[in-house]
Amino acid sequence: MPNWNLWHGCRKISAGCQNCYVYRIDGFHGKSDSFIVRRTADFSLPLKKDRSGNYKLTPDGGLVYTCMTSDFFIEDADLWRQEAWDIIKSRPDLDFCIVTKRITQAESRLPADWGEGYDNVTIACTVENNAAARLRLPVFNALPIKHRLIFCSPLLEQVELGEYLDGIDEVSIGGESGENARECRWEWIEEMFNTCREKGVPCYIHQLGAKFVKDGRTYRLPNRKVQHWQARKAQDLLESGYTDNK
Ligand code: SF4
Repeated sequence: MPNWNLWHGCRKISAGCQNCYVYRIDGFHGKSDSFIVRRTADFSLPLKKDRSGNYKLTPDGGLVYTCMTSDFFIEDADLWRQEAWDIIKSRPDLDFCIVTKRITQAESRLPADWGEGYDNVTIACTVENNAAARLRLPVFNALPIKHRLIFCSPLLEQVELGEYLDGIDEVSIGGESGENARECRWEWIEEMFNTCREKGVPCYIHQLGAKFVKDGRTYRLPNRKVQHWQARKAQDLLESGYTDNK
């Protein structure tokens, strides 16, 4: 899936940030200043064209994950955000998916012509635990947004989503990756999946995480491919109503 990382760097704000992959990947490359937010060389990527005049970024349209190495609503990027909104508006053929842990500071950072939301923007509010859900989801649900997702990732406990699911297009659940991953338990996923099903909201298990616990047994899944493959298997089993995925 194509990404558009228009600024890079972020500051940790909640439990889900503990093992942030931006810090992890920067650290791997010997960098220790991931808390500094910088505009990237890709800032204008959606506008760039090749010699044939075709857009370089998904010329045939489609989904673009936006600002995946920072947070779109971080205050450090206030000077650049209006330009980013202008770029987003200029590519109505793309669906920009903005994943944020800073939904509580989004309202004043929406563009003046936002109205009920841009057709080509999906906002995904991340909630990793119940504290984050109680803080962020009432704010999220009160904002005018045309397409809205809830990302429970990294899932750190069973999150009670039931009262927040009206108007949500999809819930996506994922365990934590990386060698310091915290556990993700099968029963949390199962309960949350069933809550979504009762409310008629699609629930997608995108990965089980690197430390997955089921029936008292811990499974180490260091390989992302295996995590994703196991998640697909779990998804199929949950959808079929059969819950033993060992
Ligand atoms: S908000 Fe996201 S990018 Fe920023 S520190 Fe937390 S996990 Fe990392």
